[in-house]
This record gives sequence, structure tokens and C-alpha cells, in this order.
Amino acid sequence: MPPEEIEIIGKIEKLWSGAANSKVLLGIGDDTAVIRPPRAGEEVLLTTDQVIENTHFVRRTHPPRALGHKILARGLSDIAAMGGRPVCFLLSLALPQWSVGAWLNAFLSGAYDLSQSTEIPLVGGDIARGERFAAAITVVGSAPAGKALTRAGARPGDVLYVSGQLGGSALGLARLRKLSGAARASRDNAVRRYLWPDPRLRLGVFLRAKMGATSAMDLSDGLAMDLARLTKASGVGAEIQAAQVPLFPGASLSQALHGGEDYELLFTLPKKVHPPRTFRKLPLTAIGRIRARPGIDLVSETGIQKLRPQGYEHFRG
Ligand SMILES: [Mg+2]
Repeated sequence: MPPEEIEIIGKIEKLWSGAANSKVLLGIGDDTAVIRPPRAGEEVLLTTDQVIENTHFVRRTHPPRALGHKILARGLSDIAAMGGRPVCFLLSLALPQWSVGAWLNAFLSGAYDLSQSTEIPLVGGDIARGERFAAAITVVGSAPAGKALTRAGARPGDVLYVSGQLGGSALGLARLRKLSGAARASRDNAVRRYLWPDPRLRLGVFLRAKMGATSAMDLSDGLAMDLARLTKASGVGAEIQAAQVPLFPGASLSQALHGGEDYELLFTLPKKVHPPRTFRKLPLTAIGRIRARPGIDLVSETGIQKLRPQGYEHFRG
């Protein structure tokens, strides 16, 4: 291994050396990590995700610290969507020459800060030279056996909810593309929403443990596309009230329906369950209902139209 790579690994080991939780018996630095099996009656959740330069982001507009935050946030958001608790993560990097140094340090500190605030240690990974920057992450989590929230449990009559406000990330990306100078852009709320998503970990656990949610998923590709996945997995259809969709300030309905990367939770509750209006200041909004008939209808003042997914280009700024 070239001396430069040994140095980078040393830096990563040092950064995470103090980080551990009660489930990690042996962290970064050995041939493998050793983690305790989940508590009796729990199951293991696994999710992986990758971020590739010029496919998922461009260097010119995406600050490296935000990118490090986002790759971990996306993995944690998937654990949140299952109503799980994250345990630890692994991170592998392909590094072109330009990325080594200040850029990589900022990327790592973005991931480190989120891992500290959520108490999820890095327990392993790999680095190699690459033509383009790429990062692959695996997050390990756990949930009580048979209780993880899946996409397949929505039933006709259930009420459909979303957390937070939608469309902020798409609005932020549009603004980021227009603005020059990351420092100026980062003061904009929508740009911040796009760059620094907040995984809804506590909400996921709350929906599973306290609300008896029948299904859940995180909104990564936009409400239209993600709801189509949820209804397909559950073998049902849905009806959405356009006027009920909570819009991020300044975002259009189209950005809320089709813009990706909001990382809010989309979930269903039986009709008799009444969730609080907010959870830790995060609004929980009923936007429609699940029905037996397949397809998704968008109901608005002007009538009923079919809601069809449009493609979303992932955080390519
Ligand atoms: Mg997901």
C-alpha cells in the first residue's frame, strides 16, 4: 500500500478511535470489526449506498463536508424508515489525486460530525486510488424481531402521512445551481435542506413503537415515485389531496411531488390512530388515504388526475 494511503487510513482511525457504542466490541483497525448480536428478540438491518462524482454530485457546487454528511445521512434515513436503530457503519472510498488533502479532510469531518451526534461509530472500510471520487457506505442497524416497518403493510382505509415539509431539497438544488459561491448559498434555507438532510431516526422508532404504523419508507426520490413503490409493495392504491401536501417555503407543488432527497418519512397509520400534530417540532401531516384500487390519484380543486412518477436526478449540483 502506498505511504499516502497508509497515512489516510491512520487519519481515519485516529478520527474515530474514541467513537464506539455498547454494541461494538472491536472497531476500526483489525481485520474485521466485531459487534455484539442484537439484543434477544431483535433482528439486524443492513443497507448500502454509494455516491459517485459526476453521477451523484459535482465538485464545483457540492461542499465536501456536506457530502460526507449526506452519504451517512442517506444510510441512516433508510434505517429510520424501518423504525430501526443504527449500530455502526462501514465506509469505502475511491480517491483521485485531487481529493486527497483538505477536500478529503472536510468530507471525513462531515461524516464524523453526524456519526458523533447520532452515536454511530465507523467500524471499517477500505480506500483505493480511483479515477473519480466514489464513496460506498454500509449501515448496520437493529429492530425488534418482526417489527421493522416495511413498505408492504399499508391497508385500504389507512391514512397516509408525511413528516416535515416537501420540495425543499429540489428547491435548494435549483438555487445552488444558480448561485455562485458556496458560502453565499449555504445561508439559504432550501440550500441547507438539500446539503444537510436530517435523518428522522427518532421519528421512525416512534412510529414503530408508539403509533403502530402499518408501513413506512423514506422519501429519497420524491413523493410520486416513492409512494408508487409503497403502494406497489402493499398491493394497494392511494389518493392524495394536493392542498394537504406540506410545501417547504418557496417550493412548488411539483417540487414537493417530484423533487427527491427530502429524506422525510412517508408512512401509513390505521384510521383510528391519531398521531400528534408535531413530533419534536416536526409536523406530521395527513395527505391522503390508502385504497384497494391500484394507482395513485391526485385530488385538487381542478379535479382528479393520475399521479405519475417523473425521474429525479440525484443531487447533481
Ligand atoms: Mg430508502
